[in-house]
Amino acid sequence: MPTALSDGRNLSEIMEDVSRIEARLFLVAFGMQARRTLKPEVAQPLLDYIDKRLKELSQVAICEICNVGEITEEHCKLVCPNCGHARDCSDP
Ligand SMILES: [Zn+2]
Repeated sequence: MPTALSDGRNLSEIMEDVSRIEARLFLVAFGMQARRTLKPEVAQPLLDYIDKRLKELSQVAICEICNVGEITEEHCKLVCPNCGHARDCSDP
């Protein structure tokens, strides 16, 4: 996930990452608790929802080149729909 801290980023970008990380941590912790404490048939729809949200959260990243496009991941390529900037998802 995009969490690179550098001086080139402004505070609001960094705060956006922070809230995304917070949301992920919360969802993961909530899912673990649901697995432990709820009956499987009750927990399953919750876990499905959590999975879906985690996928969404991990996919949304703003392009570092144009700062407009929301990067989407396609076959291990991160592509900006706005400026076309692409990089491999194995890049740091
Ligand atoms: Zn872009």
